[in-house]
Formats: sequence, structure tokens, C-alpha cells
Amino acid sequence: SKCSTGGNFSKGELQRYGNIELSPSSGVLNYGQGLFEGLKAYRKENGSILLFRPEENASRMVQGAERMCMPSPTIEQFVEAVKLTVMANKRWVPPVGKGSLYIRPLLMGSGAVLGLAPAPEYTFLIYVSPVGNYFKEGLAPINLVVENDFHRATPGGTGGVKTIGNYASVLKAQSAAKAKGYSDVLYLDSTHKKYLEEVSSCNVFLVKGKTISTPAIKGTILPGITRKSIIDVARSQEVFCTGTAVVVSPVGSITYLGKRISYGGESGVGVVSQQLYSSLTNLQMGLTEDKLGWTV
Ligand code: PMP
Repeated sequence: SKCSTGGNFSKGELQRYGNIELSPSSGVLNYGQGLFEGLKAYRKENGSILLFRPEENASRMVQGAERMCMPSPTIEQFVEAVKLTVMANKRWVPPVGKGSLYIRPLLMGSGAVLGLAPAPEYTFLIYVSPVGNYFKEGLAPINLVVENDFHRATPGGTGGVKTIGNYASVLKAQSAAKAKGYSDVLYLDSTHKKYLEEVSSCNVFLVKGKTISTPAIKGTILPGITRKSIIDVARSQEVFCTGTAVVVSPVGSITYLGKRISYGGESGVGVVSQQLYSSLTNLQMGLTEDKLGWTV
């Protein structure tokens, strides 16, 4: 059988959450032809709903499908289906600050296949569930353990895509780590058994001095969308002005001798400027405790 990557998926429909029917000889149950995605919808102050870079999840699914010899919905079909599902479940999106709606798209070989081969039919579905904030009060450190007897991925394997089997293969190491009181396992590369790769369900970053580093994407770690976004945010150089009138005012560009230099990344507002602005105005407006005794 050939692998198809075309988006010849027929238009789906909304259904109540419930069990689905699957052939015992389906590709997903027998040969692990399954991919998933995970993203979140947040409610804004004004009640409307925001998705974060859903087209990135869509394109990761398209790439994963190619690796797993499956056809996939197009980026447009994926994003449209996510929006439709979220809108139909609007009331389950928690209020601001109270969590988010976790969105789980699944793509699987649902057709029957007896001998090892790509399934003849595929199903794409999305389910959602409200989730609380990961950290209830502020950030809390997690404790990781390196388990060198276990590896998450090998070069040429499927570690770089979000296929279901990757998660089955970490359960044993994760359970062992949890039983010993650790939060999760930090995996090393399987070739040299010494380079950091990632955790079971997240990418890892190191900060040393002014340098932020993270393992490169070489097929053995998942190209996280948060990872990519953090790299972009961290790269942006910032310039800001301060004053009673402007408080903290981010500078989007400076033109010097006719040459325009941009700052603060794409939006023009860097994270540091944003944070400093919030810290100071919260203090000035009495929204945070004035530990320094600056307000009278
Ligand atoms: N690595 C693994 C193995 C993951 O399962 C996830 C969660 N999808 C991530 C990293 C982080 O990816 P993202 O930022 O896209 O959620």
C-alpha cells in the first residue's frame, strides 16, 4: 500500500461525547497507527475565546501523518474542526484565570487490516475537556530523574512526531520515577546516553548566565509549539522608555541614519517590558502589596 498524505477527509459532524466503534483489526489497535495533538482554548476577560497557534498543531499533525504512513486533514480542515468543536463547547471554557479547555485531536487508522500494512481508512476526531491551571498558586518546581535504562526515542524512530506509541513506551519509566517520589523522567539521547532530550510530555530548557539553551530538533524530540514560541519570545531584543506619563513604554523601532531597527519581536512588546509595566502599575494602583512603602 502507498502512503497518502492528501486531505481527502469528508466533512465531519458534531456528536455527543461517547464511545466509538472500531474494528478489532483496525490499524490503530493492531499496528499503532495513531497520532494526537493537544492544545488549549482560553477565555478572555470580555468572554470571547482564544486559541493559541492552532495551525502549528495542524502542521505537526500533517508531518506526523507523513511519518506514520497516514493521510491527514489539511491545515485548514484541522483548524476549522478545532474551532467548530470549541464553539460547540463554549460553555465548558472556564472563566479567566480558572483554567482552560483542553482540546485533543486524534487521527487514527480505523480501517481493518490483517497483515502489516497501512490501514485502508482513517478517522479524525476531536474531544475536549475543561482543565484547571497546571499550577494552582504561582509556579512550583518539579523534580526530574534521569533513567538511563529507558529511552524515549531513537534516531530514525518516531520520537519527533506525536504518535500514540511514544506515550505507551514511557509509562513504565514514568511510573517507576513517580513511585520514587519524582515528578517525571528526563530522557537522555539513546546514542551517547548523555545529551538531554526531553521529558515524557514537555521540552526542557536550561538557563546559564544570559544564555538560554534547549536541545535541537533532530527527530528524537517533539518539536513543541511552546518551545518554538518561547525561543521566539526569548530572542526578541527590547528597548523601553520610562516616565510618569508613559510608565513603561516599549519601543518598537529606532531609526538611526535612515536605518530602522525593530525591537520587541513581532508584536513590538517584549516580555520584560510587559512584566515591568504590570509590576509597576499594579503597585501604583494598589493591586499588589506595596512592600517598599512607595505609595502614600
Ligand atoms: N514533548 C512531548 C513528548 C510532548 O508530549 C509535548 C506535549 N505535546 C511536548 C514536548 C510539548 O509540546 P507542545 O509545547 O506543543 O505542547
